[in-house]
Amino acid sequence: MFDTAILGAGPAGAVAALGLARAGQRVVMIDDVEDGAVKLGETLAPGGARVLHQLDLGRLLGPPHTTVPGQLSLWDDRGVVPTDFFASPHGRAWRLDRSRFDADLRAAARAAGAVMVRARTMEVSRRGAGWQVTAGETLEAGHLIDATGRRAWLARRLGARVVRDDDQVALYARWSPDTAMTTTRTLVERVADGCWWYAARLPDGDVIAGLHLPAKAAATVWRAPHQWSAKLAATSLIARHLTPPDTITLLPPHSATGSITSPTEGDGWHAIGDAAMAYDPLSGFGIHAALQDAVWLTDGTPSVERARRRAAIRLAYLRQMRPNYALGAR
Ligand SMILES: Cc1cc2nc3c(=O)[nH]c(=O)nc-3n(C[C@H](O)[C@H](O)[C@H](O)COP(=O)(O)OP(=O)(O)OC[C@H]3O[C@@H](n4cnc5c(N)ncnc54)[C@H](O)[C@@H]3O)c2cc1C
Repeated sequence: MFDTAILGAGPAGAVAALGLARAGQRVVMIDDVEDGAVKLGETLAPGGARVLHQLDLGRLLGPPHTTVPGQLSLWDDRGVVPTDFFASPHGRAWRLDRSRFDADLRAAARAAGAVMVRARTMEVSRRGAGWQVTAGETLEAGHLIDATGRRAWLARRLGARVVRDDDQVALYARWSPDTAMTTTRTLVERVADGCWWYAARLPDGDVIAGLHLPAKAAATVWRAPHQWSAKLAATSLIARHLTPPDTITLLPPHSATGSITSPTEGDGWHAIGDAAMAYDPLSGFGIHAALQDAVWLTDGTPSVERARRRAAIRLAYLRQMRPNYALGAR
């Protein structure tokens, strides 16, 4: 019998497991994720490092991860706008080897005493005052945490609603270029019809680029990947810094919209990270938010105060994002 079973062992789940294990709880993380699997989302915003240092995990931010000097954005008629992170009061941004980062967080949780079960959760049901969880094997736990990311698997199963801000989808590709990308900054470029591009050089020298577009348009491009390459070649800022590959294999489409789950807790369960509130990747805030959310759940911050902080973040996020997308004609 575990005190807490955490469904999902991404950044939110692993950090929650770490916090609860350090507090002496018997904790299990349940996820079928494989260490080394490709995962999207590799820029840790300034501020994310501060959370890791507070957890005494600052050592995780060495090689292979690299620091990011800033961003170049071509979004509106201001032309290319550089943003520099070196003077940020929140510290540096990092380009993560994402699968390594997530695996290191899980390893830290395990070192603190958390157990990892490599399986997908298929079923949960009440068992006395606690829960029975079917995930490869059958487990019992007093409390459940939904850290399953945007799909909010548990919260939805328990009756919560996930309201998405729009229907944006991300179509990404990753490749080893013949010639290295000519900047280590993050590149962001708005193009026609409510679409925008993201591109970055990964710590191992690979390039990752993603087209964000409405779901219907994404379905068309997904069926004809040459359109993705043609659109990339037609960018102004991004094509200046990297050479699109001749042939491309697109990664499976990902939902890439902000969303909010309601409620985010109930009798014997809580949702954290993307499962509670997800962010459009344009904000570059998702990993930082997931880490912070897990800390607030496990450091004794009262429920009402966590709700207040989330609401404040959501408001600030919408205020920041809405003008961007108005300019982006979405
Ligand atoms: C295209 C794209 C680009 C992004 N870029 C960035 C970026 O540059 N910077 C940034 O900060 N954020 C970025 N994000 C967001 C960021 O990836 C997320 O905010 C972050 O991963 C949230 O962490 P999490 O732990 O809440 O969820 P996740 O990292 O999604 O982890 C959820 C885990 O739950 C597991 N799971 C799901 N269902 C089950 C189940 N039934 N049983 C067991 N396990 C389950 C999954 O396998 C997964 O390991 C991006 C997102 C997208 C879609």
